Amino acid sequence: MKTFEELGVSPEILKAIEEMGYANPMPVQEEVIPYLLGEGNDVVALAQTGTGKTAAFGLPVIQKINVKNRTPQSLILCPTRELCLQIAGDLHDYSKYVDGLKVLPVYGGSSIESQMRSLKNGVHIIVATPGRLLDLMERKTVKLDAISNVVMDEADEMLNMGFTESINAILAEIPQDRNTLLFSATMSPEISRISKNYLKNAKEITIGTRNEGNNNVKHICYMVHAKDKYAALKRIADYYPQIYGIIFCRTCKETQEIADKLIQDGYNTDSLHGELSQQQRDAVMQKFHIGHI
Ligand code: AMP
Repeated sequence: MKTFEELGVSPEILKAIEEMGYANPMPVQEEVIPYLLGEGNDVVALAQTGTGKTAAFGLPVIQKINVKNRTPQSLILCPTRELCLQIAGDLHDYSKYVDGLKVLPVYGGSSIESQMRSLKNGVHIIVATPGRLLDLMERKTVKLDAISNVVMDEADEMLNMGFTESINAILAEIPQDRNTLLFSATMSPEISRISKNYLKNAKEITIGTRNEGNNNVKHICYMVHAKDKYAALKRIADYYPQIYGIIFCRTCKETQEIADKLIQDGYNTDSLHGELSQQQRDAVMQKFHIGHI
């Protein structure tokens, strides 16, 4: 196994990750870091969350920034506000000792004016959800003509969420002679099409087994009549008195109805969906994180 230093990681970044307790590279990092530190190297990496993929793309992206040039040089696209903040936070930690490096998370549901102000003051790395970035592009407040590295994180999720057209519009504005890196948990025909269209001679890296869920997750399917669904759900909850989980539904309305019924029946529950304000959603997540629901 190689060390981060042997992979070519710079002393400033080494110092930060050592402090974070990263002793040795994880497999995806060992594969991706030296490759991305080079030029013109596109990658499709099939890797799940938890494999260390953020550092795999984050460290080379940081290292390749010319801090003196206060213009966006790297763009990381991801599907959700939560992931956007998480990646930006990680990049911030990794670049603790890189003087003057600015990372800006850009996502919907928060003040666009403050993001515009930060862009005006100069940033090097933008971590963005596609919708908000497009909005900023339409307002001509973001410059993408010096972007030389693009990362699409959880690309399969972005496609599932209907961001295909936004991604097309964004990539069309970025110079062709860039590095493009695509991370996805699964390889689907759509991912394969996107990588054919936007990546050049991409190296394909698979970490773990293709198209497989996390092996610490058990999948169980219960077949019940629609009318018995709610009773079955309650039975499962009652069978696991310590249950702490998330129920995914197809529509906002269904989400609200099930949550309301569970609350009525005495379960500590709340609902989370797109018709709530960001503030309401944050409050729900806060309660969930501390285990109150
Ligand atoms: P990710 O797949 O990027 O979400 O990373 C999963 C977790 O692994 C995060 O908590 C990282 O901080 C952590 N991590 C990433 N790389 C390393 C490493 N080389 N050594 C120890 N922990 C790591």
